[in-house]
Amino acid sequence: MKISRLGVLSALPQELGDLCDQLDRATTVEKARRHYHCGRIGETTVVATTARIGKVAAASTTTTLIQHFEVDAIVFVGVAGGLGRDIAVGDVVLASELLQHDLSAAPLFPPHEIPLLGMQRIPTDSALTGAVRIAAGQAIRRWQAQASHPHFSQSELHEGLIISGDQFIHQPGHAQTLLAAFPDALAVEMEGAAVAQVCWEHGTPFAVIRTISDRADAQAPVAFDQFLSEVAAPMSSGILRGLFDAIAGSSQGAS
Ligand code: SAH
Repeated sequence: MKISRLGVLSALPQELGDLCDQLDRATTVEKARRHYHCGRIGETTVVATTARIGKVAAASTTTTLIQHFEVDAIVFVGVAGGLGRDIAVGDVVLASELLQHDLSAAPLFPPHEIPLLGMQRIPTDSALTGAVRIAAGQAIRRWQAQASHPHFSQSELHEGLIISGDQFIHQPGHAQTLLAAFPDALAVEMEGAAVAQVCWEHGTPFAVIRTISDRADAQAPVAFDQFLSEVAAPMSSGILRGLFDAIAGSSQGAS
């Protein structure tokens, strides 16, 4: 997998972990109310930025990454609410496909189909997702060995459907309603499926990985910020470090 220019995207600054500190020859460009931090990690040019929250914000930022910064792949890293029964706080969910749970033009189109694209679910890029899978597995194992934080010691990696919508899911019964509609959904968040649609339409490979910050229930807003800095940020740092090692390793192998 050869990646010369990688876009790394989060909703919130903490979700980027220490990535911006790792960039060599870093410069920052402001565009359409976003700050794009450009620099090098090894042979890879990195453009790191935060989209802010929600699908429109994520779509706008993704479009700028592709059209203006000309990245050739995008990785979204952040947090999400766990939906599947086996998904616990502190686990990590890697998307195999993404869907917008709040998009439906039925009866004009099948429910949850993206009108005129003819798709409900958008698959992630398998090679990039494979590299992120290896990086996340390593990050989790490192943390299990080192960290005393309870969320790290039991972290598991899951892979499957992530659903996105413009709502923070915390009200009683909402997560159950979503699970009834999408029984195989592992996690819910507010940006991934928008990134997926923009990348798909541009033919840009992408991957989405999320640390589970809550169970999309009444407890979800509690300690959210604490989780971001104590768990999500170091988990992002570990995953991204492993990913850059994987990219460097595979481009050495290819040359
Ligand atoms: N308290 C935060 C708001 C976070 S919104 C603040 O003031 O900045 C939640 C963010 O985390 C979104 O980017 C979303 O993608 C993700 N997320 C985590 N848990 C979620 C949940 N239960 N429902 C929807 N999105 C969730």
